[in-house]
Amino acid sequence: MIPSSWTPPPTPAFAPTPDPLTPARDITHQHFQAGEQVVVLKGVAGGELWGDAMRIVAPSWHTPTDEDGWRLRDATGGAQTYVTAHARYLVHLSRRCPDCLIYLRALEDHLLPKYSGHDALIDCGWYTTTALGQLVHIADTRSGR
Ligand SMILES: [Zn+2]
Repeated sequence: MIPSSWTPPPTPAFAPTPDPLTPARDITHQHFQAGEQVVVLKGVAGGELWGDAMRIVAPSWHTPTDEDGWRLRDATGGAQTYVTAHARYLVHLSRRCPDCLIYLRALEDHLLPKYSGHDALIDCGWYTTTALGQLVHIADTRSGR
């Protein structure tokens, strides 16, 4: 149990959790395009997945993986309104597409049983943002690319 004084709401409780699914995801850069609404999934809240909803702005180089990425605008991002993410971090919100739903369902199956009965916002600790506004999955920081 995490003492309530330790993480004042609505700051998510930080609970590092393995994510074998995102690094293994087979999704192309072209699967997404500018103008689409996407979400970067980060954890669990009240028995459902939660994440940051963002809008795709333009193609942009994702330096942590040395691959094509997407520049995203996070309307609630404050100082980090714009970040660059790899395509495999993204899930379509603007349309229901089978490729993204498969990943979404797999993440649900992986995560939700671990946190059943938790009402708190859980941040699984998968993502960090570099000083240069690059969103990096933990698996992409460790690989040493
Ligand atoms: Zn999709």
